[in-house]
Amino acid sequence: LISAPSSPGLHVVHIAAEMAPVAKVGGLGDVVTGLSKALQKRGHLVEIIIPKYDCMQYDRILDLRALDAVVESYFDGRLYKNKVWVGTIDGLPVYFIEPLHPDKFFWRGQFYGEHDDFKRFSFFSRAALELLLQSGKKPDIIHCHDWQTAFVAPLYWDLYAPKGLNSARICFTCHNFEYQGTAPASELASCGLDVQELNRPDRMQDNSAHDRINPVKGAVVFSNIVTTVSPTYAQEVRTAEGGKGLHSTLNLHSKKFVGILNGIDTDEWNPATDSFLEVQYSSNDLQGKAANKRAIRKQLGLSSANALKPMVGCITRLVPQKGVHLIRHALYRTLELGGQFLLLGSSPVPHIQREFEGIANQFQNHDDIRLILKYDESLSHHIFAASDMLIIPSIFEPCGLTQMIAMRYGSIPIARKTGGLNDSVFDVDDETIPFQFQNGYTFSNADEQGVNTALERAFSHYKNDPQSWQQLVHRVMSIELGWAPSASQYEELYLKSVARARAARQN
Ligand code: ADP
Repeated sequence: LISAPSSPGLHVVHIAAEMAPVAKVGGLGDVVTGLSKALQKRGHLVEIIIPKYDCMQYDRILDLRALDAVVESYFDGRLYKNKVWVGTIDGLPVYFIEPLHPDKFFWRGQFYGEHDDFKRFSFFSRAALELLLQSGKKPDIIHCHDWQTAFVAPLYWDLYAPKGLNSARICFTCHNFEYQGTAPASELASCGLDVQELNRPDRMQDNSAHDRINPVKGAVVFSNIVTTVSPTYAQEVRTAEGGKGLHSTLNLHSKKFVGILNGIDTDEWNPATDSFLEVQYSSNDLQGKAANKRAIRKQLGLSSANALKPMVGCITRLVPQKGVHLIRHALYRTLELGGQFLLLGSSPVPHIQREFEGIANQFQNHDDIRLILKYDESLSHHIFAASDMLIIPSIFEPCGLTQMIAMRYGSIPIARKTGGLNDSVFDVDDETIPFQFQNGYTFSNADEQGVNTALERAFSHYKNDPQSWQQLVHRVMSIELGWAPSASQYEELYLKSVARARAARQN
């Protein structure tokens, strides 16, 4: 009989390339911290292992110190020493690995985008497991994330379980299947994995290039639990259109694959305590929200003539995934409909950045439009607080955080029904959705017509029935968006997997 232990109390170790707020590039960093905090609150022992990057926000780490013991790990035919540091981030115990390797893997001034990323992170994955083995830890769950630490799954079963680190079940979360980290098969040998054994169609071989190995595929094959960041995205990636080449693998392993919607950190994103804002507010005091709208208009030199002119915000990386052509269209359409538009975004793609710089110049002194083409944490808080609506016309979106942050700040999301947006934004005009869940405007087709219909319905509601709009804002701001529900789903997966392993050991 499979019986779950009565007290949860699991020992969970996350091995990841990011952790908010000290080493964050995107949603992955938020998930590692948010999920860990929520699991810790539920009584589990949660530890995190990340690389010791030179470019981390060291001021957010408490009690950082180096351990006396040095951990030796294998790479490219020899052993390298690693200095191990410990510290506390947001109340969570974190281990930082500093490889004493001549290539200075994490001393590059940036987190990713280096020519040897495959090497850097396969090295790190192995060193993290070595740390667990040598410190004698016996975790119940080792949770790895995205391609950078996907190596943990095959390394664990092929090398570390036989060495005695055999207490754990492996959970892998993919935050975006667009990034799979493929490389020539021979490169896998550096971290000690057996290329002959693993470069096979049912193991790590890339589904489209047979001389390449695919770490994400390897983690899907070799993990006990595989998750992604929303239920709809989990379905989409099982189709040929959405799976980025991995749909057949995911279908083969569908029994262990689920989508769990991310939460947001409701302490960090809270308009009632947000120290970036001059005027804090809550759902019971929307005067404060109006004050933020006035303030940003003044700050950015937009017209303040009409307080009731709807303000549409857009806060995003400007990459094709986010529907950049639809963002551009929404900007012009907002102007035609008599609204104001604020875009905060930056692009790693030069031609997109140039195109938006062109638009920004065109509207430089315009009364109703401003484009701010950079990454700016503080300004993002101001725009969430000031805007009446936030537009998110993504082509695909594994989970998406901005729609949830917008809700928390009383900005009504206008989103394309894809991935996590489909699981968190529910149309106000859709009568099949219970009233208390209706929280935004949605559209299905990734085209201008789709954007128009949703934007026009939102504008008409805002202008023609201000009282009902205020009620909508009030309701949306009260929605539970924290990590607790998602953490309990992860906990359930962990417990079931641990129970299955125990039952198997007893048989
Ligand atoms: P992704 O991880 O694909 O970029 P998400 O919606 O999951 O998209 O997360 C984006 C996060 O980054 C949000 O917290 C959003 O506020 C923030 N963000 C995106 N662009 C900017 C920017 N230009 N300035 C400040 N914050 C930004």
